[in-house]
Amino acid sequence: MVPPYAANTWREYSNEMGIWEKDARGSLNAVYAFLRDLGVRWYLPGELGEIVPKEASIALPRMDKTVRPDFALRYFWQYFKNFNNTSRNEILWQLRMGLNEERVGNCGGVCHGIGFVIGREETKQAHPEYYKLWDGKRTPDLSHTGGEPCLSSPGLFASNVRFVRAMFDFCNEEMISVMMSDGMCSMCQCELCKGKETPERGREGWASDYMWDYVNRVAKELYKTHPDKIISCCSYTPYRLPPTNIDLLSPNIVVALTQHRGFWLNDYVDPKKKEQMLSLRQEWLTKIPKGHTPFFIYEPFAKLPRTTRRSSLHC
Ligand SMILES: [Zn+2]
Repeated sequence: MVPPYAANTWREYSNEMGIWEKDARGSLNAVYAFLRDLGVRWYLPGELGEIVPKEASIALPRMDKTVRPDFALRYFWQYFKNFNNTSRNEILWQLRMGLNEERVGNCGGVCHGIGFVIGREETKQAHPEYYKLWDGKRTPDLSHTGGEPCLSSPGLFASNVRFVRAMFDFCNEEMISVMMSDGMCSMCQCELCKGKETPERGREGWASDYMWDYVNRVAKELYKTHPDKIISCCSYTPYRLPPTNIDLLSPNIVVALTQHRGFWLNDYVDPKKKEQMLSLRQEWLTKIPKGHTPFFIYEPFAKLPRTTRRSSLHC
């Protein structure tokens, strides 16, 4: 079985254009910024979305301009449209948006990073205790992102810390995801995990204490050796709510708040949703040490009425 993220890296390279999604684009960004200043727009990939104002001549004055973006990180990415398997027009359009991935630009992205640690077949064979116990059996194949873990396993904890340290030391990564596998819908039934769920917090919080405790423990251990590096995890599904058993998260954690774009469109959805999201942000802020990056926004699904368009925006 292929580990969940092993395939990701090659998908980010365009054979046709000879560039990686994570390549630095300083000069290119400057050229596109100059064109934008002239009124050029790219609303869609290809000619249909390109607007080029008619000009008799174009001035090219001497220029020394420093741009300070509103967001340190602005990354637009679409499922199934990695550089390797999309068209030249699509790639050009992505480049023209003036995006940057900054510290998100690591080998695994921001989601489900634990899959790197538990996704290999060899690991499943050698360490069944890393995986969720269900009906008396360990279940290493439950999730499509590597299997569902037992987050109380001391061996898994040590292995996760070792993995992230290796990514920092040998791959010079800046940020690594320590997020649960996708599709978590029940707790491990082992003796160590018993009693760690909080069903009274509902579907967005029943796993918050359990999950964030694990992420926080891994992050604290890594903070001892790599205080300048980042551990990321999404506030998502049954661990969307902040944990109640942690006063302040380890300062090297950056929380990715997941949301639907549609939450902010009052014409289309329940306006209460927007209030709930703003309130959730405030709740998370109480868990972040002062002076540290509080969180970034991760939009896995841009949802519009009666249709779902899959795309992502990190900012
Ligand atoms: Zn367990």
